[in-house]
Amino acid sequence: MSARDRLRIAIQKSGRLSDASIDLLARCGLKFRRSRDKLFCFGESLPVDLLLVRDDDVPGMIAQGVCDLGIVGRNVLLEQALDSANAGDGAAFREVRALGFGHCRLALAVPEEFAYADAAQLGGLRIATSYPNLLADWLRRAGVQAAVVTLSGSVEIAPRLGTADCICDLVSSGATLAANQLREAAIILESEAVLAAGTLSPADARAELIDMLLRRIDGVIQVRVSKLVMWQSPRAALDAITRLLPQGQRPTVTSIEGQDNQVSVQAICNGAITWQHLEDMQRAGARQMLVLPVEQMLA
Ligand code: ATP
Ligand code: MG
Repeated sequence: MSARDRLRIAIQKSGRLSDASIDLLARCGLKFRRSRDKLFCFGESLPVDLLLVRDDDVPGMIAQGVCDLGIVGRNVLLEQALDSANAGDGAAFREVRALGFGHCRLALAVPEEFAYADAAQLGGLRIATSYPNLLADWLRRAGVQAAVVTLSGSVEIAPRLGTADCICDLVSSGATLAANQLREAAIILESEAVLAAGTLSPADARAELIDMLLRRIDGVIQVRVSKLVMWQSPRAALDAITRLLPQGQRPTVTSIEGQDNQVSVQAICNGAITWQHLEDMQRAGARQMLVLPVEQMLA
């Protein structure tokens, strides 16, 4: 690996992951100057530059050492890792953090009238996909022999065109499937955007930059899922109420003047707080509940 003193991160130029990737890096304190060709952005606040590319090119750029880190869907990263493995090469990149956006699933979808119960029914059928390696791997583990038809796009119309019997494609809401008279039958991979890095750490100044960036990303992710929950309750109900909440730090408990058995509680929770949580807490004796977002956190 050639020595460089600036870190390079590859992200998607324009697509579903672009805005959230830029936003994450901005929250980590990275500021960029956009160049005229808009492919390379010079980092102004830290020696960290950006390359804006097709998402499919992110793993390869890391493998070739052109970039040190990349943000890409787990679906793309694993598909290409299997591709390298099939070619007899070890993958030169790996997932280092799940980033909490770009959620979707790679799913098997069948025509609405197909009564799917288990994978054995796929034997001898043709399945269209843009993820041939992930699909073949899933079929192999299920012990099913089916024909994988690789298409680069418009996979969802293959059954109607008669070029395949069912499909394996990315799904988030399921609206595209419904519009094509298809129905989700099995999940092949749960995906989200991930931070990918080379399997070998650079042996120069970049190693420290990577460590710093990972610490900041962890902080950003932690704050995103953290909520400050406050309530009042009888002291005796405290344990039961705390058990209802997502894991977090130990709550701060304060007694209320003039009300012997009542306490006021503050708890940082690592996870979403739903109406269901609040209603369960209320049934367990909590009153005056407040849920607040956390802006910044330093342990
Ligand atoms: P590029 O031009 O960069 O190759 P693309 O068309 O291949 O773009 P997008 O459609 O922007 O890629 O999707 C990028 C990633 O977003 C996907 O690989 C996947 O991880 C994620 N994603 C989230 N929801 C969906 C969805 N409903 N359909 C497709 N991808 C999704
Ligand atoms: Mg792409």
